[in-house]
Amino acid sequence: MPDVVSKRESKPAHPRGERVLPGLYRLRLPLPWPGVPHCNAWAVQSGDGFVLFDTGMHDGESLSHLQRALEMCNLRLEQARLVVCTHAHTDHCGQVATIVERAGCEVWMHPNHEHLNRMIEDPDAVFERRIEVARQSGVPEEPLRRYAAERSNRGSGIAGPIEPDRDLVAGVSIMTDLGEWTVCETPGHAPSHVCVFQPERRLLISGDHLLGRISLYFDYGYSPDPVGEFLNSLDTVERLGARLCLAGHGRTFTDVHAHIRGNRELVAERLERVLGAVGEQPLTAFEIVPRVYGTSLSQQNAHWLLSKILCYLTHLQALGKVSRIAGEPERWTA
Ligand SMILES: [Zn+2]
Ligand SMILES: [Zn+2]
Repeated sequence: MPDVVSKRESKPAHPRGERVLPGLYRLRLPLPWPGVPHCNAWAVQSGDGFVLFDTGMHDGESLSHLQRALEMCNLRLEQARLVVCTHAHTDHCGQVATIVERAGCEVWMHPNHEHLNRMIEDPDAVFERRIEVARQSGVPEEPLRRYAAERSNRGSGIAGPIEPDRDLVAGVSIMTDLGEWTVCETPGHAPSHVCVFQPERRLLISGDHLLGRISLYFDYGYSPDPVGEFLNSLDTVERLGARLCLAGHGRTFTDVHAHIRGNRELVAERLERVLGAVGEQPLTAFEIVPRVYGTSLSQQNAHWLLSKILCYLTHLQALGKVSRIAGEPERWTA
């Protein structure tokens, strides 16, 4: 197999385009997020153009970053024949509206992306809801007010509303010069998450379902049991037998099955810790965070960590291992 291992990652903030295989390019796009310096989009040759998998988020410089990365692969944005989004998070679909306008191409995405539309139509309501969940989870008033202040100087990360031309559900296929790719639904990280698999070459475009450096996140509040869904999705992907993973962040990797196992182990360890914490005394989600992660909530990590803890608790509740004690704030007990 040709040159599949990319060179050492350099420091963030520069877009980069590089060939992974003939006809397949990694577009590394900067992100303004602490701890997540960039995301990947993938361009796969298709006739006189290319299919673009994911887009990077939208902000002041994002379009020029994408164009620069494409240029490094001798591609132009106007040659995009189709945009396929692995899921409805801004770093994966934020530039859809801009690209569709420039290239006049279709966009395909999983139908469970209403939360993204809500974010575009009424960002304040989405944010209010987050604050409400945080308050309910025991986050004190003062940091809540700080999160609110911080939020007001941030953009949404999305160029505009997304109206998919086709629902990206199981069995849909995408034609490229590297062959046909098939869609597998992999909810968990996000309800709209899909992975895309090329069976002859055993290539997997994994979005944020599998990452080179294992890192878990689950959207809270849009589906009954995101952690349970994620574990099922790991089984789905394991059955594919992929040998090269093209992930939404970081380098490509080949030991796909070791990564699947690593994800399962990390979920099991986190569930164990959450269960251990509430076994001692009833706690709020806010109080559980430092017991599981060894760090308290900050403005940067609050939404991220609370969502995860609430998803672990929801999963443990589905397994009959913890119960929710209603109240303001709500507490959890084993
Ligand atoms: Zn994501
Ligand atoms: Zn991502």
